[in-house]
Amino acid sequence: MSTAADIRNVIIVGSGPAGYTAALYTARASLKPLVFEGAVTAGGALVQTTEVENFPGFRDGIMGPDLMDNMRAQAERFGTELVPDDIVEVDLTGAVKTVTDSAGTVHRARAVIVATGSQHRKLNLPGEDALSGRGVSYCATCDGFFFREHDIVVVGGGDTAMEEATFLSRFARSVTVVHRRDTLRASKTMQDRAFADPKISFAWNSEVAEIREDDGKLGGLILRDTVTGETSELPATGLFVAIGHDPRTDLVTGQLDLDDEGYLKVASPSTCTNIAGVFGAGDVVDHTYRQAITAAGSGCAAALDAERYLAALS
Ligand code: FAD
Repeated sequence: MSTAADIRNVIIVGSGPAGYTAALYTARASLKPLVFEGAVTAGGALVQTTEVENFPGFRDGIMGPDLMDNMRAQAERFGTELVPDDIVEVDLTGAVKTVTDSAGTVHRARAVIVATGSQHRKLNLPGEDALSGRGVSYCATCDGFFFREHDIVVVGGGDTAMEEATFLSRFARSVTVVHRRDTLRASKTMQDRAFADPKISFAWNSEVAEIREDDGKLGGLILRDTVTGETSELPATGLFVAIGHDPRTDLVTGQLDLDDEGYLKVASPSTCTNIAGVFGAGDVVDHTYRQAITAAGSGCAAALDAERYLAALS
């Protein structure tokens, strides 16, 4: 194990819209941020997607990977140091915080911004990854608009699934909610709204057994009855998986306060965590909005909070 010589002003863990925006702001404030981008997923969740039509400033939309390349380059232009590696351990308790990279090198900083994002849960079926962005989606707000007049399936039985189904019924020809049980977990209000929607129907006691591909796009689904085991075909050109998200908080568990669902707690509207000098931004904090623009906005707020914290130290 070795220790990097200098004590940095700020280290940012994570390279999605939250991390790069925090980097841009702290770099422009001459704080020379050091960003750990992650070893395999630098650029965050948008690198996995195709067209992004709802990030302001791009009238004709922009491909997810291009948007993230632009954010990265903009942060780098003002002196951000970027490292394509994972942080595997942190000690956030002291006035000088430490983060350890995968080679065992310890990096020190007075402020740390945690922007590690969240991971949507998958069905883990063959073809799911290949068809992501080609009929398979995890975000109705992001992708609903692309599914006008489609026959859509929403998987899940909680509030998010009902909200997605209700939202998608604005665009879709039909929406079928596929749920493993014969009752929903969603709140009564959300259930009532979905039950009252003439475009929404329910496949109870059912799970997706197979995802079919047709010419590089989603071609249909095979459902399995969770009681009888019988299978049936369901025509669909859109599949929205709404079975939850897992915030990436393993790294900070035991040091930073988390809520019941494992999201990082901050003193909203600030980005301050329970430890002075440690800030949280983006989807690792947010289980409500989960958009690139809201992640970028909270990355900006974390940078400004860190800047003020560091100014008060000197
Ligand atoms: P993320 O983008 O998830 O980035 C977190 C980063 O932290 C990752 O790069 C990860 O590797 C890194 N990281 C995690 N742990 C560590 C560690 N220990 N060390 C170093 N690095 C680490 N939103 C929209 O607004 N419009 C859209 O059209 C849209 N489409 C989407 C399509 C898909 C397929 C998905 C999955 C999401 C989409 N979203 C969209 C949502 C949007 O991508 C997220 O809300 C946003 O990326 C969250 O940003 P973030 O910076 O909080 O986290």
